[in-house]
Amino acid sequence: MKTYDVVVVGAGPAGSSAARRARALGLSVAVIDRATFPRHKLCGALLSGRGQKAMRDIFGLEVDPEHFLYSRKVAFKWDGETLAEFDAPYDLTYTYRVDLDHRLLREAIAAGAEDYQGTRIETFDDAANALVLADGTRIGYGVLIGADGAASPVARHIFGRAFDPDKIGFAFEAEVPGGCDADARMSIDFRIVNWGYGWNFPKLDTRTIGLGSIRSLDQDLKGKMAQYLDLEAGAAGEGVKIKGAHIPLGDYQKVPGRGNILLAGDAAGLVDGITGEGLAYAMESGAEAVAAAAEALKAGKPATATGLYRKRIRYIHTELDKANKLRHFEYSDRFSSLFKEKLATSLTMRKAFFDLLAGETTYSAIERRIPKQIAGKIAEKMTGWPSKLAGRLRG
Ligand SMILES: Cc1cc2nc3c(=O)[nH]c(=O)nc-3n(C[C@H](O)[C@H](O)[C@H](O)COP(=O)(O)OP(=O)(O)OC[C@H]3O[C@@H](n4cnc5c(N)ncnc54)[C@H](O)[C@@H]3O)c2cc1C
Repeated sequence: MKTYDVVVVGAGPAGSSAARRARALGLSVAVIDRATFPRHKLCGALLSGRGQKAMRDIFGLEVDPEHFLYSRKVAFKWDGETLAEFDAPYDLTYTYRVDLDHRLLREAIAAGAEDYQGTRIETFDDAANALVLADGTRIGYGVLIGADGAASPVARHIFGRAFDPDKIGFAFEAEVPGGCDADARMSIDFRIVNWGYGWNFPKLDTRTIGLGSIRSLDQDLKGKMAQYLDLEAGAAGEGVKIKGAHIPLGDYQKVPGRGNILLAGDAAGLVDGITGEGLAYAMESGAEAVAAAAEALKAGKPATATGLYRKRIRYIHTELDKANKLRHFEYSDRFSSLFKEKLATSLTMRKAFFDLLAGETTYSAIERRIPKQIAGKIAEKMTGWPSKLAGRLRG
């Protein structure tokens, strides 16, 4: 049996970040993915400023015009109606996951991570701190990191299920042919669905059009996606394949692991419930999981890794909690006309939105700037989840 300090399951941005950071810390690491890269992953692939920083810190990679389209043009929409068109204060950078994820994984492998692509896990042998692969190979670990996406088999193994079906998000997306340039405008439609939004992102070779919301709110998301595609792309969208995937919109694992088994990225539910952004948190949490693993292994107490990791990502959990509360302002009927008006006119709200994506502000800072009257009404809510869902959860 080969044994590593850290074994990472899943080679998306969270897994490759964990593997790359493990090598930077001098740990032996194996990275396992059932897919062989390059592989597709449904995603708008808007890499925020915060995501760029994580990519730079962990991989030493910068965004570059060969792989990313840069544009500042933005439109805010409301059920098809354009409310405002303007330039964002920062470059927005768009790419393709098939390419980004492959590059990140190559960096981790070049740094010495052992590569187990195209490999399925057959069984978990917790007592022996080992995994058995489909071909019978046994791999031992000091700490195991599940970075295996929203439907995480590692989370299923330790918690019995990967996500709460009442709270999980679902998104549909389509790639509409036709390359874009720096003058191409992205748009976000804040009312094309309830408790979610639609996006139309310019890319080097296509436009990525999609929408997402909380799955259990029963609102025929697929039908709405077909209408939205028609609205945004017209004839160019005819016959284009629509695909769907889970996205954990704000529902994260309060305890992100068990003993020496940790969860990172989507497997830990680390997606912003307002912006839908997950790439930055995936990379940050992958790196933090390994830092916690290194600390626990050094102390000779691998089982303390979950507690150490939880402390390290408390700042992410705090932000997700605040976003979950604030989305009442964004989505609930009670504030709908005020929110629409602010989208059309408020330079402050616009700046806050892009500062958040750039990592230049936090929800905590934004919360402090919200007028007391609105903050009070938001605070009256028992939970950050939609009232219909909240009622069902209270039961
Ligand atoms: C439609 C859509 C649009 C989005 N748009 C954006 C956006 O524009 N910007 C943004 O920041 N975020 C966006 N997100 C969120 C973002 O895609 C995720 O947060 C991000 O992919 C999380 O990365 P990850 O590494 O945790 O998981 P993933 O990227 O899902 O990687 C998980 C890996 O685990 C592997 N795996 C799964 N099961 C196994 C198994 N049994 N054994 C081995 N390997 C396994 C998979 O093959 C995969 O490679 C979007 C999500 C969706 C669904």
